[in-house]
Amino acid sequence: MNNAVEIPLGITGISIGEVRENEFGDILIRISVTAEGAVCPKCGKPVTKSYGHGREIWLRHLPAFGRRTFVIIRPKRYQCPYCGGGPTVTQKVPWYRERSQYTDIYEKHILRALINSTIHDVSIKEDIGYDAVRGIIDRNIGKQVKWNEIRYIGTIGIDEISLKKGHGDFVTVVTSLSEEGTKILSVLSGRKKRTVGKFFKSIPKRLKKTVRSVCCDMYDGYISAAKEVFGKNVIITVDRFHVAKMYGKCLDNVRKREMVRLKKELPEKEYEKMKGVMHALRKKDADLTPEEREILKTVFGYSEILKTVYEFCDDLTYIFDRKISKEKALREIESWKEMTEIYDLNCFEKFIKTLNKYEEEIANYFIRRQTSGFVEGLNNKIKVIKRRCYGILNVTSLFQRIHIDLEGYYSFAG
Ligand SMILES: [Zn+2]
Repeated sequence: MNNAVEIPLGITGISIGEVRENEFGDILIRISVTAEGAVCPKCGKPVTKSYGHGREIWLRHLPAFGRRTFVIIRPKRYQCPYCGGGPTVTQKVPWYRERSQYTDIYEKHILRALINSTIHDVSIKEDIGYDAVRGIIDRNIGKQVKWNEIRYIGTIGIDEISLKKGHGDFVTVVTSLSEEGTKILSVLSGRKKRTVGKFFKSIPKRLKKTVRSVCCDMYDGYISAAKEVFGKNVIITVDRFHVAKMYGKCLDNVRKREMVRLKKELPEKEYEKMKGVMHALRKKDADLTPEEREILKTVFGYSEILKTVYEFCDDLTYIFDRKISKEKALREIESWKEMTEIYDLNCFEKFIKTLNKYEEEIANYFIRRQTSGFVEGLNNKIKVIKRRCYGILNVTSLFQRIHIDLEGYYSFAG
């Protein structure tokens, strides 16, 4: 062949035999292992007395120039001369595992493909079965955290995920965030304080000492479990992301009410101009496109209350946007609350109740904010995982999938 190149196979300790192409365009590479010998599973002694070869095995390998590639091997077999009955043993090699249909390097390739993707998607693109991808995950990803691989915890993030949209069925996702990166610590069934507390207690003593803060939603179960187990030395923070979700809901409610009114009162053509209002309202004033600005101008022209509530939300976001001290933030939030009273905005009533209840934890955000931007990154990741994980109903699978997303590039790169 004058248009062929020679590239290494990525497997060592072998010699290459016939290389051919089958009718599907797959590349088939026949190889044999050069090393001799195996270890008897019964007595543990090395054995070299040949007992022929096992049956031919096809192992899927990394695709070469976009083609499915297989290495074909007949594993060597040996017989133990020391044990009674002469048990036979198949030679083991470090680049594929018994009963796997893939080389290790190909399994890594699949795990890398799974990062931020789905089993279904990867199984289609790679043309291997759904269960085959599942099997690769199970062979390579542990079902729970390996504490001995963690040196430092730093911040713990606790988040709930509803496995079915709008159906409850909650699990609690516990992550950690430090200079070592984001790691998944556990996925717990439900969101009871007892469950979370039990998990916190199971953290080895050595690592418990390295917890600096716990970041979670405004949820009594999580907050009191963290307080009980970690005590006063750990800062408990409600992240701005959770707070923003809550006041965003107040705005959403006013928008829904007002849009129903406007639909009744306005001519259809005028109402049509307000398409996209929901999306525009969810943005900060500073981030609006000219089109969105136009939509809001039209809507606000008809709804003074929506304008006011939008501006109040934007003011609150502005407080969280700045690197100010906790004390200053508390003062600004206080005067924001007073203003809602002056404007008689009862749409924020429920939100303000929560705000008062968790004021300390919410304001703690400003302590962390001054020192690190970690937490925001973690929350964005959790948001993406949440969107993708509907349908994974099993706590163990969820743990494995989040593990791949968070640590995959580090673990399976190169
Ligand atoms: Zn033996």
